[in-house]
Amino acid sequence: MTIRIAVDNCTGCGQCLAVCPFDALTLEDDKVVVNDACTLCGACVEVCEFEALSMPPEEAGQQPVPRPADGIWIFAEQRRGRLAPVALELLGEGRRLAEQLRVAVAAVLLGHNVQGLAEELIAGGADKVYVVDHPNLAEFLEEPYAAALTALSRRYGPEIILAGATYVGRAFIPRVAALLDTGLTADCTAFAIDPANHLLLQTRPAFGGNIMATILTPRSYPQMATVRPRVMKPWVAEHERQGEIIPVQLAELDQPWRCRFVQTISEITETVPLGEAEVIVAGGRGLQDAKNFRLLAELAELLGGAVGATRAAVDAGWISYQHQIGQTGKTVAAKLYIACGISGAAQHLVGMQSSDLIVAINRDPQAPIFQIADIGLVGDVFEILPALIQQIKANR
Ligand SMILES: Cc1cc2nc3c(=O)[nH]c(=O)nc-3n(C[C@H](O)[C@H](O)[C@H](O)COP(=O)(O)OP(=O)(O)OC[C@H]3O[C@@H](n4cnc5c(N)ncnc54)[C@H](O)[C@@H]3O)c2cc1C
Repeated sequence: MTIRIAVDNCTGCGQCLAVCPFDALTLEDDKVVVNDACTLCGACVEVCEFEALSMPPEEAGQQPVPRPADGIWIFAEQRRGRLAPVALELLGEGRRLAEQLRVAVAAVLLGHNVQGLAEELIAGGADKVYVVDHPNLAEFLEEPYAAALTALSRRYGPEIILAGATYVGRAFIPRVAALLDTGLTADCTAFAIDPANHLLLQTRPAFGGNIMATILTPRSYPQMATVRPRVMKPWVAEHERQGEIIPVQLAELDQPWRCRFVQTISEITETVPLGEAEVIVAGGRGLQDAKNFRLLAELAELLGGAVGATRAAVDAGWISYQHQIGQTGKTVAAKLYIACGISGAAQHLVGMQSSDLIVAINRDPQAPIFQIADIGLVGDVFEILPALIQQIKANR
């Protein structure tokens, strides 16, 4: 099925060709013609001023899919019996969305001997916690985790599923979306609810961070999205909160899997891991040379923090990739973020702007970093940093 064309109305203006993402439209004798690449996305219908294009009646009159009853779910990622912080961040966001949708928030806890975490999830904002406890879920493997979340979703019918864009979430959540035949928006940075149709507006950077795209899943449920850790704010835990804990048995888990768990090898880091650091001193191209990162390291050590960097500094070979912060690096939310010689490109900001206190040092007063900085120091980083280090040492 393709888009409908009222040939007499077509003026051959070509606006529809420009917006079609699938190259499904061409002009023949100044009239638009559609080919099989048409997906009925409707972009051309919206742009046509002459009512020459319309959806086929079957699509146009399509009844909205009824909203499932089980509200918002968040995947409560845990490792070795400890909740991943992103689980509580998602609960905070889930609560905010639930108030607008007037639905409950459920956490889904998968693992083995993890029931004890349910209370923490209720305190963190869950109204109920589905607990699937099974030896096959003791260590993370994509197949059983995907089977469990899919089976739960089919049984209870959530409207929305949110998960962390962690190694775990990125590995198995796309499988769940495929098994449920629904959409998935990865790496979202903001959500809202469309009051007209109660759909989840899923916003994420696109085209290298140059635009923010808002994506909808209008024709299938659940609406699924992942969020990078430290982008959302957690709910303030209320330990007296009451909630329901629902243990669930899933026969789907009682089978051999194609992959088996062998061992976990922990990453060894000598300094404070960037993702967990409360203080980050980050440097950019303004540092001018690898050796100048020693200044950052000295300040970071004095403040008990870690050193971060922009992609420009990493690409220059001044510091290793594991220090890169931003869209293609790590996302951090430090209590104190000191940006030194960093211009404030959108791709960098997306990885650090939820830090509590941002101090920027830059000699260009017009640098975009000053727009999000709480404290801006206009000046030379090679004068300000040594003075700062000296002052901290003197105060001690
Ligand atoms: C797809 C894509 C993904 C990307 N992902 C990332 C990412 O994950 N992280 C990231 O950081 N970038 C990323 N980038 C790159 C990003 O667009 C910017 O190019 C980069 O962040 C710029 O780094 P910078 O601020 O260090 O350098 P610049 O933009 O060159 O800024 C250097 C700043 O230092 C200041 N300065 C110079 N000398 C001094 C001095 N002596 N004292 C004080 N200030 C001084 C200058 O005024 C300037 O503002 C990505 C780009 C693309 C296209």
